[in-house]
Amino acid sequence: MTNNQLINKTVLISGASVAGPALAYWLHRYGFTVTVVEQAPALREGGYKVDIRGAAIPVVERMGLLPTVRQAGTRMRGGAWVDESGKALATLGPDLIGLRAPGDEEVLRGDLSRILYDATKNGVEYLFGDSIVGLTPQADGVEVRFHRSAPRVFDLVIGADGLHSTVRGQTFGPEREFVRHTGMAACVVSVPNFLDLDRWELIHPTPGRVVQVYSTQHSTAKAQFIFAAPDALPERGDRAEQQRLVAEMFADASWETAELLRAMSDSPDFYFDSVSQVHLQRWSLDRVALVGDAAYCPSPLSGQGTSMALVGAYVLAGELKSALGDHRIAFDRYQEAMREYVDLNLTLGWNNATQMVAGSKRAIRAQTTMLRMLRHMPWKGLALRPIMKPLNHAANAIALADY
Ligand SMILES: Cc1cc2nc3c(=O)[nH]c(=O)nc-3n(C[C@H](O)[C@H](O)[C@H](O)COP(=O)(O)OP(=O)(O)OC[C@H]3O[C@@H](n4cnc5c(N)ncnc54)[C@H](O)[C@@H]3O)c2cc1C
Repeated sequence: MTNNQLINKTVLISGASVAGPALAYWLHRYGFTVTVVEQAPALREGGYKVDIRGAAIPVVERMGLLPTVRQAGTRMRGGAWVDESGKALATLGPDLIGLRAPGDEEVLRGDLSRILYDATKNGVEYLFGDSIVGLTPQADGVEVRFHRSAPRVFDLVIGADGLHSTVRGQTFGPEREFVRHTGMAACVVSVPNFLDLDRWELIHPTPGRVVQVYSTQHSTAKAQFIFAAPDALPERGDRAEQQRLVAEMFADASWETAELLRAMSDSPDFYFDSVSQVHLQRWSLDRVALVGDAAYCPSPLSGQGTSMALVGAYVLAGELKSALGDHRIAFDRYQEAMREYVDLNLTLGWNNATQMVAGSKRAIRAQTTMLRMLRHMPWKGLALRPIMKPLNHAANAIALADY
């Protein structure tokens, strides 16, 4: 398809993490002229490992990036739940721990973002260190005002700017109308690999909290702190206050937690957010649409956010191509194609996020006993069926069109 055949040609995408660069990839391939604006000064590193599951695998394959993604795979050997002295309470292999079906993949979020960026940086304009401050609809486009760049008019604007999407806020309304908080918060930092982990994860649960640490290399490890959060979280971007809260929440936690907290303040990267979901009836309004977490964040503890972003980007771009850039047709079809998949994953994500952290010592004992028994069960598949079946169903609940 040539650019001249398209009714709408220029597309601005806000956000360069997963959904943004994935959408940019497809739109550029289909002949659109794409600009991505990212508020961070450079591609954001960091984050824990994320799963690419179900329908997202053929999407990555169609991008021609599956070998690169597999190459970057974490190749975890498994992990163990440990008590306060570091004694293993239960150990599991890599697929059981990640609840992955054959063919699914696991990568570091930062590595995936880098792969998508590298695959697009030559054909797509990236504006780092900038963000949208105003969107004004016009008859045949949207006038965009930026924090730093001069105003420009684009045919279409897509928000791929995550849970706290600015595009969603400016087009659909305030965050409180769409974001549902699970009551948990998560923090991820890179730390020195002082526990000498080799593709191995350690998980230390205490009531209402979990500390996880793992390494895919020898020099650095990633630590994740998940906790039942107070209602009022520190301001977004206030790293010092967020770190103070994490330190306070885990102050009396045993095992290696104190050392991991000390390493947090020196970490080159830092991710902190509430564990929340986004629920919207419709993901588009006139010439503006949303994709990924901005539209349907299932929460970082769902294990499905990255896959939904990849699938959503594929479908949205594909529908725009099929409709020759006509946003009215394409956005309706995007909605129709994605709705059931999104709803199933939001339900699954809520259950995962709210059940992952055990609330009491008794619940932790029950959890680890169950995990320990699982390892020795010859019929693991059967025992895990109540968890794996809905996950596999939701992860595959979309028939991908061949655009
Ligand atoms: C640094 C980081 C670490 C993460 N770590 C984890 C993790 O450990 N586990 C997990 O499950 N999920 C994590 N996530 C979320 C995960 O990436 C997403 O759930 C999923 O991949 C969907 O991606 P997304 O691109 O839709 O949204 P996100 O990954 O949230 O990306 C949104 C992007 O938009 C940018 N942005 C936000 N506001 C603006 C604005 N106003 N203007 C321009 N750009 C803006 C952000 O900087 C970010 O790059 C992390 C996200 C980030 C950004």
